[in-house]
Amino acid sequence: MRISGAGKEFLLNRDFAVNCGIRVKLQLTTVIFMKIFYTWVIILLCLPSTALLAQKLTAVEKKIAAAVDQQIPQTLRLLEDIVNVNSGSLNVTGVRQSGELLRKDLEEMGFTVRWVIMPDSIKTAGHLVASRKGKKGKKILLLAHLDTVFEPDMPSNPYTMLNDSTVTGQGVVDDKGGVIAIIAALKSLHQTNQLNDATITVYLTGDEELGGIPSDVTRADMITEAKRHDVALSFEAGELNKITTSRRGADTWRMYVYGNQAHSSRIFSERAGYGAIYESVRIIESFRQTLSGEKYLTFNPGIFAGGTTIIDSVDNITVYGKDNIIAAQSTIMGDVRFLGEQQRREAREKMRKIVENGNLPGTRAEIHFSNGIPSMSPGEANNALLQEIRKLNLDMGLGEMQPNDPMERGAGDISFIADHIPSLDGLGPSGSGAHAPGEVLHLKQFPVLIQRAAILIYRLSR
Ligand SMILES: [Zn+2]
Repeated sequence: MRISGAGKEFLLNRDFAVNCGIRVKLQLTTVIFMKIFYTWVIILLCLPSTALLAQKLTAVEKKIAAAVDQQIPQTLRLLEDIVNVNSGSLNVTGVRQSGELLRKDLEEMGFTVRWVIMPDSIKTAGHLVASRKGKKGKKILLLAHLDTVFEPDMPSNPYTMLNDSTVTGQGVVDDKGGVIAIIAALKSLHQTNQLNDATITVYLTGDEELGGIPSDVTRADMITEAKRHDVALSFEAGELNKITTSRRGADTWRMYVYGNQAHSSRIFSERAGYGAIYESVRIIESFRQTLSGEKYLTFNPGIFAGGTTIIDSVDNITVYGKDNIIAAQSTIMGDVRFLGEQQRREAREKMRKIVENGNLPGTRAEIHFSNGIPSMSPGEANNALLQEIRKLNLDMGLGEMQPNDPMERGAGDISFIADHIPSLDGLGPSGSGAHAPGEVLHLKQFPVLIQRAAILIYRLSR
């Protein structure tokens, strides 16, 4: 028996790609139509994006917004280019190529570009870091990631306009749209001469989707950079009226349970005991009963295997067993998500207690936790930033801004630095379907979100 987490999804993806391939071949004549359609969409998107320019923005801010609008054709071309370069987290060449696509723009704006190279053993591309120094305002760190969950051997999903407000493509909203939003916002500031005095670092990680493991190596440079800055803005996918001031963290755990291998007819006897599987079930059920009601805490057993022999790797388990043999061992892998260090620590303690105490006769168990991504705790500093963007939202006529419920977001790179500087996340594009073949970005909101990011950077850097 072989248990694998990803197999089914892969088959679905392949069917999707085959269907798409056939459809494209059958409908070659639609290409010309699509080109005309695409041109119209670009023209529409280039019109001043909303009536917001009449709102409470200063003359300079209105100029910045207009510069964003004017550059939308280039912005979308760059988005198309970067989406069409596969940059799965393990595709070192692809991640580097995605980053290099941005070098020219960054250098033209006075940024010095460097790659943070990882040790060979980590096998990822490292991070692209671009910095420029000025003399005024807050020092700002802009964060996004170059990698996606889609590796080259998965079905491709090239940049494709679905209609006048939606575009699909691998990583288009998570997080290539975020990367391009940063570039476009900076270009609008550059074009309006508002970048000259600013101190800004653009930090684009190349392994966010892997969780940056081991983080003490992969995030060391990022944390050092963060400490040199006053504020961090992260461009994971966002919304017009929601922003992220806190995110839950995520760790992983592995549990090993052992029983006495014996003839199944002897189970529950004093000598044979209850076997590894009954004990595993006791533990998992106790986790649920003891901890599942706690606010912000979740824990998911993702893989569960029991039998006589188990061979496991990072995300794959091979197990052998027979119905007439009492299970000698089981392995369970899962995650645990939490808000704040106290909840993280207490959850581990409670889980460990359940694992180590009250074992069924003839069994024993152990659990091992691995640090994943810390949580981004809400706090005064993040709240102050929230007030800044809330005011900006109103000034732009975009309405009220609310902080996201931490339950709604997964873990992210911002959490590694949020303890060191005031931080916001969710400044990237709006869209849906991240990590799946149908991922889309909402084109109509994209220019407005770039304008908001640009003006926020402008206000903070003054
Ligand atoms: Zn992301």
